[in-house]
Amino acid sequence: MPFNQPAPQLGNQYTDDRVLRSYLARALPAEMLKAIERELLELGELAGGELYRLQIADRLNEPVHTPWDAWGNRVDHIEVSPLWKRAERLAAERGLIATAYERRTGRHARIHQFALVHLFTPATDVYSCPLAMTDGAARALAASGNKQLIERALPHLTSRDPAQFWTSGQWMTESTGGSDVGLTQTIAKRDGARWRLYGRKWFTSAATSQMALTLARPEGNPGGGKGLALFYVETRNAAGQLDNILVHRLKDKFGTRKVPTAELTIEGTPAQAVAGEADGVRNIAPMLNVTRTWNSVSAVSYMRRGLALARDYAKKRVAFGAPLAEKALHVDTLAGLQAEYEAGFHLAFFAVELLGRDETDTLDAAGKDLVRLITPVAKLVTGKQSATVLSEIMESFGGAGYVEDTGLPALLRDAQVFSIWEGTTNVLSLEVLRALQSGAALSALQIEIEMLASGVRDVRLLDCARSAQAALLRAQQWIANASGDALEAGARRFALTLGRAFALLLLCRQAQWSIDHEKDRRAFAAAARFAQNGVDMIAAEDLALSRLLANDGPV
Ligand SMILES: Cc1cc2nc3c(=O)[nH]c(=O)nc-3n(C[C@H](O)[C@H](O)[C@H](O)COP(=O)(O)OP(=O)(O)OC[C@H]3O[C@@H](n4cnc5c(N)ncnc54)[C@H](O)[C@@H]3O)c2cc1C
Repeated sequence: MPFNQPAPQLGNQYTDDRVLRSYLARALPAEMLKAIERELLELGELAGGELYRLQIADRLNEPVHTPWDAWGNRVDHIEVSPLWKRAERLAAERGLIATAYERRTGRHARIHQFALVHLFTPATDVYSCPLAMTDGAARALAASGNKQLIERALPHLTSRDPAQFWTSGQWMTESTGGSDVGLTQTIAKRDGARWRLYGRKWFTSAATSQMALTLARPEGNPGGGKGLALFYVETRNAAGQLDNILVHRLKDKFGTRKVPTAELTIEGTPAQAVAGEADGVRNIAPMLNVTRTWNSVSAVSYMRRGLALARDYAKKRVAFGAPLAEKALHVDTLAGLQAEYEAGFHLAFFAVELLGRDETDTLDAAGKDLVRLITPVAKLVTGKQSATVLSEIMESFGGAGYVEDTGLPALLRDAQVFSIWEGTTNVLSLEVLRALQSGAALSALQIEIEMLASGVRDVRLLDCARSAQAALLRAQQWIANASGDALEAGARRFALTLGRAFALLLLCRQAQWSIDHEKDRRAFAAAARFAQNGVDMIAAEDLALSRLLANDGPV
């Protein structure tokens, strides 16, 4: 008999995730955790069992766009894969959105919700994408105060009944620019009490959604971002047909292959202004805060999935006389990745906590500035980590990691998107600089830093906390002195330093708690290793030399 390597297996994804369980034990009151643990156990079982099997079986299925029916009618039907259909039902029934709005766990509702998201996302091949936009739309509508739209859409967006549940799109990107949305060409024309929209949306991922929030320029408004308004669109008319929307094609993408990302033309689609006839970019900001938080948690959850598989494989795969799990160099490699996951996890969930505090009105103005700072920082740090970690995870399986029907390559391809959509790393780094302009965000961050550092007592953890504080200080000194092009050129290094050093402090807090309450030193090991992986990216680069290099000559 030839030798066959056993495939890696997943257990209950809640029970097996020490990082998630330990965090929840620290962050939630014990009674509350007890009350919700059944939901987490059930979803963890589904994620590692039925859904994982379905993912493997569904591997080759992709969404199919049928533009015309047999009789020449334009239908633009999009059929999603069986896994996605299951995911849609589950998302409603398990309250992936509802949990945040029912607030059964009060001010902890976002932690509760994102614990579910963490388990759900890597098990459903990026169904988190439409869910993130759905949650974001619910939040933006709630923040708009538009009573009519709130009454119309929120009950659907937050429903636990699959028959009532709606998802929402977020139609921002046009071919003129996804980052520079001020270039948006879609025009809004008045039509009695409502509006009609005309334009082309270049990336619309939730092409099967019942509604969308989108940006358009009311006729006569000035150019740039300020002249845009935020609009609410229902995609289908009373007869169930797309309402003056043409789906040209689905994008042929590197990853997120299950996500039906479409190019659309809107040709007089009825729309309602959400909050006035301008300031659309400002009014869509609550949506982006939510989708970016989903992105951070999703990026982290992908790292966790890769590590769960790699760890199981390392116990089984024998090379040079011993399982990989006993080989010092393989152990060292996996340890570095686990440390990245743990630090990213605590950074992402800190953003989650801030979102929750913001919604329950316990944040002052400085706290709100901190949300504006931490949300993009968490998104950009975890987005970068995820692609790097998943690339190493692929290698940790050797050749098998590169073979499609193991399901492993899809993890890397999907993870690559987390640093691109919802704001690229550079664009978010520049946003971080803008969030610092008032000075209040840095002061609020400083308070958090001191609070975190003061709780650390273990001698070796104190070293880690000191190195985090030193990096944060260097970042603050750098930003106090940088200006003009040098400031812009260093923005990414600055944002990554801020994020990674702050993540290290969060990890130190968890590690101290875990030593004190669980007699467990694994989070401590993660903090020590993450500090070694490096948190300080500040460097005095010479922009003239960078120009020579990047442009292959002076420009
Ligand atoms: C799979 C997928 C699904 C998507 N789904 C949606 C969706 O549903 N709805 C939606 O609205 N959008 C969606 N997008 C679009 C996505 O949000 C944009 O692609 C993204 O925001 C970047 O915009 P862009 O493609 O125009 O790139 P550009 O803005 O052209 O950026 C190109 C490069 O330039 C860099 N850059 C840009 N400006 C600066 C600057 N000032 N300084 C330094 N560097 C800069 C960027 O970092 C990037 O590396 C999706 C994208 C993907 C890949």
